[in-house]
Amino acid sequence: MALRRRLSTLILIAAALVGAQLATAGVAQAAVRVLYYDVSQAQEFQQVARQGALNWNSRVTNVRLEPVPAGRTPNIRVYADNGWPRAYTQSLGNGYWIMGRQAVNEGYYQPRISTHEFGHLLGLPDRRTGLCSDLMSGSSAPVSCTNAFPNSREATEVNNRFASLTSAPAREFVWQPAA
Ligand SMILES: [Zn+2]
Repeated sequence: MALRRRLSTLILIAAALVGAQLATAGVAQAAVRVLYYDVSQAQEFQQVARQGALNWNSRVTNVRLEPVPAGRTPNIRVYADNGWPRAYTQSLGNGYWIMGRQAVNEGYYQPRISTHEFGHLLGLPDRRTGLCSDLMSGSSAPVSCTNAFPNSREATEVNNRFASLTSAPAREFVWQPAA
């Protein structure tokens, strides 16, 4: 009988843990993190930059990207220049990224670039798997790849990062690694 009592105690503890986790999940859900982005300096790429934000919003629940309201400081700024697209993270959800015409001119799908670069600001690193189904494979996927959405693994990773607000080190991510 001792074993049985120990088992039922364990079950009670497990149930309590699950309950605690559910409660925590509920809180995280309620406190969805809003990140403001500013595309006013993205030149001809303002619309495609907004599209990248919308693509993320359609796949994640713990963080939402919104256009910065007047008078507020954005978390994320978007620029454009003639180099490779690249992102600079200061901390999780904060920094800037650049829409680089070098990749656009080579034919990379613009919404895939913008969604990918936002992915860095949401805490994801480059993973050069060569797979079009991976958003963060970036330029390692064929130029013809038009997948502009995170897959479920990538979306889950972002949800988890914003549920626990993990830290993200300041660093640079470049679309095309130096040869
Ligand atoms: Zn990248």
